[in-house]
Amino acid sequence: MTLAVHGGIPVRSTPWPAWPPPLDPAQRELVAKVLDSGLWGATQGGSVVADLAAAFARRSGVRYGVACGNATLGLFAALRGLGIGRGDEVIVPAYTFVASATAVLLAGATPVIADVDPADLHLSPQAVRDALTARTAAIMPVHLAGSPAAMDPLNDLAARHGLAVVEDAAQAHGTTYRDRPVGGLGDAGVYSFQSSKAMTAGEGGLIVCRDEAVHERVWSACNVGRAPGGAWYGHPSVGWNLRLTELQAALLLPWLDRLDGEIDRRNAFCAALERDLAAVPGVRAVPRPEGTTRDSRHLLMLRVEADVDREFLLAAMAAEGVPLDAGYPPLGTMAALTAEGARAEPCPAAEEAARTVVWIRQAMLMDAPDAAADVAEALAKVITGARV
Ligand SMILES: *Cc1c(COP(=O)(O)O)cnc(C)c1O
Repeated sequence: MTLAVHGGIPVRSTPWPAWPPPLDPAQRELVAKVLDSGLWGATQGGSVVADLAAAFARRSGVRYGVACGNATLGLFAALRGLGIGRGDEVIVPAYTFVASATAVLLAGATPVIADVDPADLHLSPQAVRDALTARTAAIMPVHLAGSPAAMDPLNDLAARHGLAVVEDAAQAHGTTYRDRPVGGLGDAGVYSFQSSKAMTAGEGGLIVCRDEAVHERVWSACNVGRAPGGAWYGHPSVGWNLRLTELQAALLLPWLDRLDGEIDRRNAFCAALERDLAAVPGVRAVPRPEGTTRDSRHLLMLRVEADVDREFLLAAMAAEGVPLDAGYPPLGTMAALTAEGARAEPCPAAEEAARTVVWIRQAMLMDAPDAAADVAEALAKVITGARV
């Protein structure tokens, strides 16, 4: 029997649900059909990639969707499609995955790292206002952890200053803001299907947008500079092969039918945990942003205010069978980004988050709501130092 860091028996010894969840019959059937067809690529006449792109566009409330290899490339293609590149600045939040900024670098533009709201940790409209310059061309709100960024204030700001809005929806399949699906609220929105995300094919990405001209440029950026419907060896613009395969799309298209049920499951777990945490001193869930009408719960972020060493907390929770994640370092502290020209504004809220916020990953949130008691019990045990 392994003793937990504080001594005694770990709170949790049974495994948490695996991610991804087991394949369902519809996925097996469609993957087998694509395998047998031999139409594995995206340009051989298969229709699953196109169906997936159309389904995401529909769910996002916009006309167009373009599937791509991953969301990093999707954000890059969205920026290209909106004409953003050299000499332009793109404002990104300080508390996000590094790809939000590296996609801007890939487009040849400058990431400007702005602080997040100290309470909900999403891009702060005030920080965006403070970071504006004559070169600002776009804002990239991130729908962090599956809850929506402050899209109304950010869209208002963008409209007032003539800026494009690219939504990083990599973590937010199924999220809504004031009852409107994210991804379709800005000029373009980008989803990820990388292994850790709420829908996955191992890798993958998808861009949605409402404007026909933007769609044509995004499509072209992902399809070696071809024009939609144009000649195979006609390349009126510069583009790349950023395409998703039919095999990946075959894993993803049937997933859309169970996505809402999985979101409900994670929400039930989170609701149970938030109730249980009321009894644990110094730990609370990071509040959902104003305007959240559906949180897809890619992660549950917890703010730890109790006086406990962070490294100890993470090690002790793992020893209790409840592994937590340390989360993001602030983007502005990454020397590799600033070495390539990224500019960081003061980001005290993101720095505070890096010191105090821990994450519960989505696989754990897929367990039955009863299991939330294990998380609360382990936190209480580690924080109070109580022996069980
Ligand atoms: C995962 C992620 C990305 C990058 O997605 P990939 O598909 O891995 O390229 C970008 N932004 C955020 C916020 C992410 O979580």
